[in-house]
Amino acid sequence: MNVFTICSDRQKGLLQAVPTVFSNCYHSYCMRHLASNFRSDFKDLLLERLFRRAARTLRESVFKETMEKIKAKNERAHKWISNIPKENWASFYFKGDMYDVLTTNRSECFNAVLKDARKLPITSLVEHTRHQTTQFIQKRQKLGSSWHTKLTHYAEERIESSLRESCQYTANRVRTHEFEVKSLETTNSVDLITRMCSCRAFQTYGLPCGHAVAAINITEFDPYDYCDECFDAERYQDTYVEVVHATLDRTQCHESPEPLMTILPPLAKRPPGRPRTRRTDRELKG
Ligand SMILES: [Zn+2]
Repeated sequence: MNVFTICSDRQKGLLQAVPTVFSNCYHSYCMRHLASNFRSDFKDLLLERLFRRAARTLRESVFKETMEKIKAKNERAHKWISNIPKENWASFYFKGDMYDVLTTNRSECFNAVLKDARKLPITSLVEHTRHQTTQFIQKRQKLGSSWHTKLTHYAEERIESSLRESCQYTANRVRTHEFEVKSLETTNSVDLITRMCSCRAFQTYGLPCGHAVAAINITEFDPYDYCDECFDAERYQDTYVEVVHATLDRTQCHESPEPLMTILPPLAKRPPGRPRTRRTDRELKG
């Protein structure tokens, strides 16, 4: 089984279930949920911003420096953050593939789409869900087919940005696949076989960083040869290739050979007021 990443809201049951059921997966904690809990406890925008910065940075020195700043400002906040294993929320220490995704926003968005259906009766709920799913897929089919590029829109933009950034670097080949990439202030090391850069962006985002593009530019290859295939526009289109077919009305349904099962409605709610057994002696005496 492939190792993959599960991003969750750190709900108590999930904290126990994920390592048990998905023992070989990496578990990341949604930064939006963490920051929201942090905000309720500390109500300090600057501290929250520092917390988010510590989560996003790919440099250990920046992580440590940011955590020190938090400690100097509020020791209790520093302790609060330190109690959560950094391997589960800080990009620098996370071992799995995050692709720059620090939140569960994608599933929350789908959750919001189906929110209105929750109070509907069962058949309407199923129909509403089917209708929303059809629209969800159709919208993405349309978007995917509008791209005439090799990669998705998001990935193309990131590559464009890396291409612009690469202009400030000079790359030198150290050995066949290893390069030293220099600017006026920095030196980074790029390995094109392992697809790694010492800035960590290449391996974290699955797309060549500016240093990697500078290195690739002095080879016979192309930056597109070093993009994770999950960013292929064709992959995106394949994801939404299936359709949810229309559900026909009752007159067009085939009779089931199985006897129909009667599903009873839920038990009626108890009428308001105290239960009879808890009536006071005085009421019983009348
Ligand atoms: Zn880099």
